[in-house]
Amino acid sequence: MRNVRCANCGETMEIIKIDKYSKPHGVALVSAGLLFLVAMPLEALLGLVLIPFGLVVSFSKKDVWNCPACAAMVDRSR
Ligand SMILES: [Zn+2]
Repeated sequence: MRNVRCANCGETMEIIKIDKYSKPHGVALVSAGLLFLVAMPLEALLGLVLIPFGLVVSFSKKDVWNCPACAAMVDRSR
């Protein structure tokens, strides 16, 4: 595995997994979906779409390079 050096401080970077999207957004989507499902029969179908979408948003992870020295992060695809 190739080493990647931090652009800021020259420290060797390590791969970590972080949430791909912000978790509160996913939770909000699931909550809205549940609310539609329970409270609004006409929007229940929308709820059925929102819930799995929210779960995907909540649990998607991506690999990034993280510098242990200065906490700089770089997308691994770069
Ligand atoms: Zn650094």
